[in-house]
Amino acid sequence: MTKFTLMPLPYDHSALQPVISARTMELHHGKHHKGYVDKLNKLVAGTAYERLPLEEIIRKSAGDDSARKIFNNAGQVWNHDFLWLSMTPGGSRPSDRLRARIEQDFGSHEAFGDRFVKCGVEHFGSGWVWLSAARDGALSVASTHDAASPILDGLQPLLCCDLWEHAYYLDYQNDRESFLREFLTRVANWDHAASRYREADRAA
Ligand code: MN
Repeated sequence: MTKFTLMPLPYDHSALQPVISARTMELHHGKHHKGYVDKLNKLVAGTAYERLPLEEIIRKSAGDDSARKIFNNAGQVWNHDFLWLSMTPGGSRPSDRLRARIEQDFGSHEAFGDRFVKCGVEHFGSGWVWLSAARDGALSVASTHDAASPILDGLQPLLCCDLWEHAYYLDYQNDRESFLREFLTRVANWDHAASRYREADRAA
């Protein structure tokens, strides 16, 4: 039986300060993310989803109205795993190749940043903002609602940020824009994004 476990944070709770407080990280990882994992384990027990890997659960339950709760919790487990990997203390810089593609598709790194922040700010309600790569290598910025993911559109996510209020409300209150700017300029993990971009290449 598949038993999903909470992915350990790849850094200390305090490692992303002052961009994200230790308290936010403790609650976000230890309560919210853990809650999705625990709920998913309960929901899939005794169902056809029980033995599937996480990504397959997401793909299969996305088209199954009776599995809405399973989809929501599985999606949130995957998205949070990806979120922790999308950040690193002090941030990192895009590889030359990824930077060149960002310049090709968005005009400049700054223009990409503006697009990413605008997309996150304008997203209504809870969800996620993503930088993703298509199979041909083209990059795009988009938001998804609630627990949805670009993997359902055949895209390879490179970087994501959480737009649920629990991700930023303690530290930024209603100022989602400042949270997104700080995320991009000070903790975004471009090494991870570049490794995902190479994977998208190999899958092409
Ligand atoms: Mn979250």
